[in-house]
Amino acid sequence: MIAYQVVFHQIPTQKYLRGHNSSFGSLFSGISSNYDNDISFHPSDADTDNEESEDEFIEEHNVNFVSEMKYVVFNSQLKQLFNKCLGDNQCAAPVVELDYRHKGSLVIVNGTCLHNHHFEWRSQPLSNKMAIGNLLLAASILYSGNTYTTAAEFFDTFKLKFFSENDFYYIQRKYLLPVVNSMWNSQQQQLLSEYEGNTDLIVAGDGRSDSPGHSAAFGTYSLMDTKTNAVLATSVVKVTEVNNSYSMEKEGLIRCLNQLEEAHVTVTTLATERHPQISKLMKDEYSTISHQYDVWHMSKSIKKKRAAAAKRRECAELQPWIKSIGNHFW
Ligand SMILES: [Zn+2]
Repeated sequence: MIAYQVVFHQIPTQKYLRGHNSSFGSLFSGISSNYDNDISFHPSDADTDNEESEDEFIEEHNVNFVSEMKYVVFNSQLKQLFNKCLGDNQCAAPVVELDYRHKGSLVIVNGTCLHNHHFEWRSQPLSNKMAIGNLLLAASILYSGNTYTTAAEFFDTFKLKFFSENDFYYIQRKYLLPVVNSMWNSQQQQLLSEYEGNTDLIVAGDGRSDSPGHSAAFGTYSLMDTKTNAVLATSVVKVTEVNNSYSMEKEGLIRCLNQLEEAHVTVTTLATERHPQISKLMKDEYSTISHQYDVWHMSKSIKKKRAAAAKRRECAELQPWIKSIGNHFW
């Protein structure tokens, strides 16, 4: 038994049976409606690039597909909808031929009645021939912090029809990540505009690598306002852009500070861990910023040294004090 995800909750009218041709446009801002690749459920022949606003789109379809309820429908239940002719309002003849096709999570049913009326029914609305459920399903996977693999396991266990891994990553690359970038950029601009003229900004900075040690390929760096915990800037550095993975942290910090500078935001104090390259950078290039060391990182480092010392026989008395010394320092 196959379960389908169905967006409409009732048999659509003839108008819907014919489908739609309008663009998904900017229902999500930042989405381009050009297609440079062909996958099963999006249009390879879409050549329009409508600049339709979200409001116009919803008005035309009279429904907001993002917030609209969707239902899980079993195959056996779905079949009950196609007992009688849907190809002609006046005809109630039995259906003699039914054909099911899938495009990702979309099911398309083609039927023919005893009087040879043909009809087509789709479980999802289309935009530029793309099934909107496929886009929203992929978006829901990514934006809820899941991965394709975990979602696929869930769908497969439930026997819910969905799209392939390649299709998911196509949608992610083409639509979802540009939306994240666009949203981040506009929110960051909005946030930074509130900091203009601020003369007492204390930020904390730290980097993170995709893997520990010297094998890291990507590093991110972020700057956070220590009073509000708002992340003011973030940057990604690829190891090939710098000399080695060790230098990604410094480059990331430079890019973050540049972002703030471009937005006319002045940093008064910066706290980081004790990274020699960064200490040197701050002294040489950013002498107007007071550079301080992050106590958490220092406390961690001193704790390691205390623990090592306490293992030596002549320092055994240090052992019970390790935690208290850390608390005192902190
Ligand atoms: Zn008929």
